[in-house]
Amino acid sequence: MGATSQVLIFNTGSSSLKFAVVDPSTGLDIVSGIGESLGSDEPALEWECRGVEQARKLASGSGHREVIELLVSDVLSELPDLRQRLVAVGHRVVHGGEHFANSVIIDQEVITTIDQCSALAPLHNPAALAGIRAAQAAFPELPQVAVFDTAFHQTLPEHAFLYALPFSLYRDHRIRRYGMHGTSHRFVSERAAMLLGKPLEETNTITAHLGNGASITAVKGGASVDTSMGMTPLEGLVMGTRCGDIDPGLLLHLVETLGVTAAELNRLLNRESGLLGISGLSNDCRELEQAVVDGHRGALLALEIFSYRLAKYIAAYRVPLRRVHALVFTGGIGENSSWIRARTMHWLGALSYELDSERNDKMRFGAEGAISREGTPTVLVIPTNEEWVIARDAAALVQGENR
Ligand code: ADP
Repeated sequence: MGATSQVLIFNTGSSSLKFAVVDPSTGLDIVSGIGESLGSDEPALEWECRGVEQARKLASGSGHREVIELLVSDVLSELPDLRQRLVAVGHRVVHGGEHFANSVIIDQEVITTIDQCSALAPLHNPAALAGIRAAQAAFPELPQVAVFDTAFHQTLPEHAFLYALPFSLYRDHRIRRYGMHGTSHRFVSERAAMLLGKPLEETNTITAHLGNGASITAVKGGASVDTSMGMTPLEGLVMGTRCGDIDPGLLLHLVETLGVTAAELNRLLNRESGLLGISGLSNDCRELEQAVVDGHRGALLALEIFSYRLAKYIAAYRVPLRRVHALVFTGGIGENSSWIRARTMHWLGALSYELDSERNDKMRFGAEGAISREGTPTVLVIPTNEEWVIARDAAALVQGENR
């Protein structure tokens, strides 16, 4: 494989399609962009190519296929030699169930299995399949690779992935905890081992991916041994608009006493809770931090509950890891919010964590490094790069096939 090989990456949501062309050896992208509001009256495409930003309105009702067609006809054609350098298309797929512990080259059987997993991710997997089909049509010469959010967590032991429900629900319906954000947890745990100068197999990390969605993982010697998201991305930490852990009895109460329907519950738990629900103001951490400065009590409460719950998970993950070499913050909030990091570490004072405030304040906008005081448990900020993982996996699989 040549040094200038590139991988085209698709991250397909139900009404969006993000793309990037990434060099698997450096993680740098030449082009990146997003098609948004797909299927609506006003879909739009924005992209950046070598630092120049461009935007285009799409015809009403345009979907994933139209975005990919425009990508070929307008975006990639600006870089005439690029198409020859593409070696694979890498797709982010949210749910691989128990079928995929690693990334795979997509064939008909893989497509059928991703389709079967749609029951576990009804919004995400059908969108990924739409992206895969459109990419196959537009790039028939290129191998397509699927990289699963759930794959990294397939190493979870039974005692961590089973719910305390009748075992038949797992046996007959595969109801269990799967975990998400695996690509990000894998990337930052590997990067942490490099920064610590230790072999990955001997490194234990707790990785906190804090974005609009948020999850935390205990990584032992490079393998995920526990994680906070469950069968769906609703379990675990407080998120932008999702509630995270709650008493399941509360759901029964809402249904039986208040007559809340399944659709209303879905909206309540996924879209109206979390930082937004508590603050009554916003799901956006930046806005909430500003509101705290302006004296907004709801914003303060939301950020405080977020940090407190996160700290409790961090403390709990000492159980599977025993020795922790580093706690890692990543994702939009983890990489940028010195406030959330400081409050979380305040709660972790009981476990001897101590913050270096000066370092913490400087750590944002892509900076990487430690925010803990010398001689106290190591805490790192590491910008995640899921696209790089997808590019690396895709390039490695294709290389293996061509050998
Ligand atoms: P997604 O899960 O959608 O990929 P991101 O990883 O981009 O989300 O994270 C989005 C979150 O990161 C938002 O809550 C946003 O407010 C927060 N964030 C981004 N930059 C900053 C910043 N400078 N300070 C505090 N929070 C930030």
